[in-house]
Amino acid sequence: MYSKMLKLVFPKTHAQEPVVCNLARLFDLEFSILNATIHPRKVGEMVLQLSGSPQSFEKGMSYLKERGITVIKAGEQMLREEDTCVHCGACTAICPTGALSIERPEMRVIFDVEKCSICKLCVPICPHHAMSLLPLENNGEPAFGA
Ligand code: SF4
Ligand code: SF4
Repeated sequence: MYSKMLKLVFPKTHAQEPVVCNLARLFDLEFSILNATIHPRKVGEMVLQLSGSPQSFEKGMSYLKERGITVIKAGEQMLREEDTCVHCGACTAICPTGALSIERPEMRVIFDVEKCSICKLCVPICPHHAMSLLPLENNGEPAFGA
């Protein structure tokens, strides 16, 4: 069973299609939408947690690719500057998914990109500006698939 935090970027032409419902209906994938910005006739973005069998994932990703929808692992859009982070732990109290957590007994803060939902709550709270959102490289090719 796969469970991934993904970001979908919809082209203008498919911004209003019920593609996420179709992932569930056609490919037996379960989804939980965490964030969505969809405007009629404009590019849309959605962050969701998607779960299902590897076979369902493969079919679902092909379905999205056919529609020109870019898919990335959500956490790949967040950057933690390793040299800037002082491991103060402030961000771990606010991170809703546990992507930022304290590793004991070293008391180091680790960033697990697989758990990140790009909520961006850690950006303003970090006193050292170690967390930032990377610009999305939308070249039309889904990055997910590994
Ligand atoms: S708040 Fe900033 S400096 Fe502190 S642990 Fe988190 S990323 Fe590192
Ligand atoms: S953006 Fe920051 S606070 Fe939000 S889930 Fe990712 S690491 Fe946690």
